[in-house]
Amino acid sequence: MNNAGYPITRFAEYCGATHADIKFQTQIKHLVTDTRNYRHTAESVFFAIVGDIHDGHDFLGDIYRAGMRNFVISDRSKASLLPEANVLIVDDARAALQSLAAEHRRRFRYPVVAITGSNGKTVVKEWLFQLLQDDYHIVRSPKSFNSQLGVPLAVWAMNDMHDLAIFEAGISHPGEMENLQRILNPDIGIFTNIGPPHQENFPDLATKVAEKMKLFRDASILVYCRDHLPIAEEVNKSFRGKQLTWSFQTDADLRITSTSRSPEGIHLKGNFRGQPVETDIPFTDAASLENVCHCWALMLELTPHPQNTNRRIANLVPVAMRLEQLEGLNGCTVINDTYNSDINSLEIALDFLRRQGKNSDKVAIVSDIAQSGEDPRALYSKVADMIRIKGIGRFVGIGPDISSHREVFEGVSAMFYPNTDSFLADEPLSRFSREDILVKGSRVFAFERIVDVLQRKSHETVLEIDLVKVIDNLNRIRALLPPGVKIMAVVKAFAYGSGTHELARLLEYNRVDYLAVAYIDEGVALREAGITLPILVLNPENSGYAVMISHRLEPLIYGFRVLTLFRQALARRNVEGAYPVHLKIDSGMHRLGFDPDEMDALGEALAGDASLEVKTVFSHLAGSERPDFDDVTNAQLRTFEKATDALAKHLDAPFMRHILNSAGVMRHPGGLFEMVRVGLALHGLSGGRALRERLEPAASLRTVISQIRAVKAGDRIGYAPGQAPAVDSRIAVLPIGYADGLRRALGYGKGRVYVGGKFAPFIGGICMDMAMVDVTGIPCEEGDPVEIFGEHVTVYELAEAMDTIPYEVLTGISPRVKRVFLTE
Ligand SMILES: *Cc1c(COP(=O)(O)O)cnc(C)c1O
Repeated sequence: MNNAGYPITRFAEYCGATHADIKFQTQIKHLVTDTRNYRHTAESVFFAIVGDIHDGHDFLGDIYRAGMRNFVISDRSKASLLPEANVLIVDDARAALQSLAAEHRRRFRYPVVAITGSNGKTVVKEWLFQLLQDDYHIVRSPKSFNSQLGVPLAVWAMNDMHDLAIFEAGISHPGEMENLQRILNPDIGIFTNIGPPHQENFPDLATKVAEKMKLFRDASILVYCRDHLPIAEEVNKSFRGKQLTWSFQTDADLRITSTSRSPEGIHLKGNFRGQPVETDIPFTDAASLENVCHCWALMLELTPHPQNTNRRIANLVPVAMRLEQLEGLNGCTVINDTYNSDINSLEIALDFLRRQGKNSDKVAIVSDIAQSGEDPRALYSKVADMIRIKGIGRFVGIGPDISSHREVFEGVSAMFYPNTDSFLADEPLSRFSREDILVKGSRVFAFERIVDVLQRKSHETVLEIDLVKVIDNLNRIRALLPPGVKIMAVVKAFAYGSGTHELARLLEYNRVDYLAVAYIDEGVALREAGITLPILVLNPENSGYAVMISHRLEPLIYGFRVLTLFRQALARRNVEGAYPVHLKIDSGMHRLGFDPDEMDALGEALAGDASLEVKTVFSHLAGSERPDFDDVTNAQLRTFEKATDALAKHLDAPFMRHILNSAGVMRHPGGLFEMVRVGLALHGLSGGRALRERLEPAASLRTVISQIRAVKAGDRIGYAPGQAPAVDSRIAVLPIGYADGLRRALGYGKGRVYVGGKFAPFIGGICMDMAMVDVTGIPCEEGDPVEIFGEHVTVYELAEAMDTIPYEVLTGISPRVKRVFLTE
């Protein structure tokens, strides 16, 4: 996020610095809170924020060496690490960032709209932008920057060129809204709705509503729906400004009296303060309807031309909330971001491009950028700077504006095209190979056509993995661990079917401590994708030791035979220093491992061996998710502890111990030791029932209807014997079969899919590449999306119908199913 900035001395004052060690004068324009965001210029500053999981001070040395020269820190003793930098000492770097943002916001007189509520914040913000962008130069939160950190960063983008600001504010804990109010101090508020998300931190709904209302303390106008009674009650109790209400049911400024639906949308009629009004909205779902009504009410208040309002609402386009990462042709990865094309979201997308994806060469394809009043030459110079600073190798600019400023891209390997057609006519496929490609353009450029050309074509079944949920799950697991307990993320079997390097990248970036894979090949693939974390190989075949050693992969040693073989492999290759290995003890599952009574023999075999370093000693539980196995589990924990104690007596150097898998972490905190190994919980799933609510499933499997046919009662469907419906029926054919992982056990009504808002059972057998479902009475058409599993048909339900466990459902999805990764 950037603006014209402040001189360092003024900046120090706004941050509330108690001490400022200024070594050189500079203008601070860029705020950096993430050490992995390499925007280091004399005009950048790093805030060393102390969070629950990370302490920014731990990274000062690295980021200083990378060239950062301005710092805001709270731990004074760390200043000596930063000899040539400007160092501002504050009590708390997060609070300093918030004070800075509040000071910055205070300089601007134009109206600030703030949106809060449980759902719809980002959509309402983006739609207001779409509706008002012809009337105003708008600054708004990028993506869903709405947190204690996101809000100050969003506010920092305000500048003199704008004349309207739209920000969103979200909280998850009591007390946070006061901070956000202080920063945003909104003139106009929108309270979208109230519902269960984050309820766990609030005693009841009324408390949560009251907390959210604090955002609007000094606002002069508040938009809300009177049908949400807890909101209406709280507004009447505590809000002093002017209420701008709407309702389907009761008297309100905007009273909606009729809604008529068609397949294309909803026609609304009503009156606004007594005057008849109507509009068409191009969506049919209830959430969109509510979101539009908030926008409509505010527009009727702000604009003198209701005719305009209707046309603009009819032209609203859906908001894609996530970037998509797709597998491209020629070994490329494609990152699809057609969300919006302002400069702040470009910076976020470029950061994502830099750290995700498997290739080291990066390309950005970017359309004209929304100008929001900024001088175009200055704007495109900023774009060119970002491309240089972020190390993007090649740049493609598409559009008349960006093309006419090509001279500011001097020194960048760049190509320009006046429009999307001319780019597509230039054989783009032949130009890209083994690169990660960001495709980012505003809607009018229809960049989805570019994505279509670049991505690997496959049938229309996709496994969608929501990376944001994976991180949420990781953080939930972290919250269960005392400080110091390390996390090994298990990414064997193609990361449980989800895509190994994509998950590994994400987990490395979010600082897990270790990775585990099943086979050497999987580890090699991770090294080739640039993963530097230590990697444990759970089944190291001895034929692969040479490759393993050359890739610095760490073997599991489970017996004396492999111990000897591995030592010989090390000796043959003259490996210098002690090589990290992991010992497995069989504490009761009776799979791989040393026997607990072999510890003395093992200790003697290892004592004095300088070629090996025992990094960790571990074991595996047979039934950690099952209450009926708790006695077995407890016995395993005791056996493991005794065995490791015995082993430790023989070894000079300490080692880490680990035994808990996902369910173990949640059910057996007595067995944490120094590290835990988690796989399934990262995907938001759990073997045992008790823990299901605490996680969020990250994967969903979708397809589309290929064809719908009418069949008569008694017609047999599918291969023999087939299944005949009792009445005349509609049958939908889906392009997914047992070769994709949809097991035959689901046929003949044992399983079901979710389509057109309803469940439809499989009819007849599941074929190799196709399956049929009975959609009689369900509103759906050819080409409509179908959920195989996801929000409605859970992985658990599917596993039960297939008589298996969630692990097998995930790992059974064939590699031919395209994986799509979503991120914020
Ligand atoms: C697969 C595996 C894990 C991970 O188990 P989850 O139940 O998925 O957390 C941990 N340890 C070992 C040895 C494994 O094979």
